[in-house]
Amino acid sequence: MSGLLELSELTVAFGRRGARPVLDGVELSVGEGEIVGVIGETGSGKTTLARTAVGLVPPRSGRVVFDGREISGLRGRALRAFRRSGRLSYAFQDPLRALDPELTVRRAVAEPLAVAGDLDGAEIAARVDEALETVGLDAARLGDRLPGAISGGQRQRVLLARAIVTRPRLLIADEPVSALDASNRNRVLRLLDRLRTERGMAVVVISHDLSSLAGIADRVAVLYRGRVVEQGPVREVFGRPLHPYTALLIASAPSVRAEGGPGAAALRPSAEPPAWTAREGCVFAHRCPFVIGSCRTAPASGPVGEGRTAACHRVPEWRGLVAAATAQGPPELVAAAGETHKEAGRPPALSRTSEKG
Ligand code: SF4
Repeated sequence: MSGLLELSELTVAFGRRGARPVLDGVELSVGEGEIVGVIGETGSGKTTLARTAVGLVPPRSGRVVFDGREISGLRGRALRAFRRSGRLSYAFQDPLRALDPELTVRRAVAEPLAVAGDLDGAEIAARVDEALETVGLDAARLGDRLPGAISGGQRQRVLLARAIVTRPRLLIADEPVSALDASNRNRVLRLLDRLRTERGMAVVVISHDLSSLAGIADRVAVLYRGRVVEQGPVREVFGRPLHPYTALLIASAPSVRAEGGPGAAALRPSAEPPAWTAREGCVFAHRCPFVIGSCRTAPASGPVGEGRTAACHRVPEWRGLVAAATAQGPPELVAAAGETHKEAGRPPALSRTSEKG
């Protein structure tokens, strides 16, 4: 069954031909009323993914299909008409930069409806009040203020009100809680969950904060250097990651790390990466402690269980290597890593003896 939003083999590159793509063969599906998290560190391509999905960035190849219609091929008037419809909405990352400092809260939220041109003034005013109320803002008290005269948490909610005022079927929220304190973060996360429950709205939440996603997302996609390296149901991915990069992210986030999961130290390479990792092969090879010669061929993303995919040649065995090395103790872990490095074509790790000596 097709999802509401389908990204297929999506590749985006900026600048000269031959430059490493910002997104490389991304596959992602979002169903009706589903919350999908996209996680990854800064520079992984998360924001480019969002901007490409809503038609702000043209892909070099691949397809974006929304509600059965391909939108990646739209240009000019057809693209503007689709974006004005507001059915696929995007809440930008930085409220201070995304909001016009000279537009009051009420006018900022009304703008997408005014641009669409389908409603009269009274209808727009009613919809603005509804959107502000939905995000928990008092329209009478805050509606005439400028963005600079309200708090950061309120600005974030104004951005969300602006994104939902068109009653979209899918909202893409880019780092919606990154600048918020704990209480405002929880408030915004509850709001996103409520929009899904009460309106059946699908939501894509882009975030580098795993604990935020753990509470609300149904599924999660892990992005690394423009590739989706793993995706699946959030509980399963966070509970038992199948890609070494996902495992490292989770090991570095105590709030979501499952008891007994591998620690960050066991997931970091103990030697210089082989030279080839800088330009070819698996995107994670330069940081992967399990790299071997066959990783020089980039792994395809493939099914690794019910509803899960991972792009790693060593899914069946790397967790066993960690468990065995942990059971044997640190000196053997270093020695085992040395064998792996030799096979991959890089210098062996220093043994504990040589480190001392
Ligand atoms: S394919 Fe190789 S280098 Fe890439 S994550 Fe898997 S083991 Fe590591």
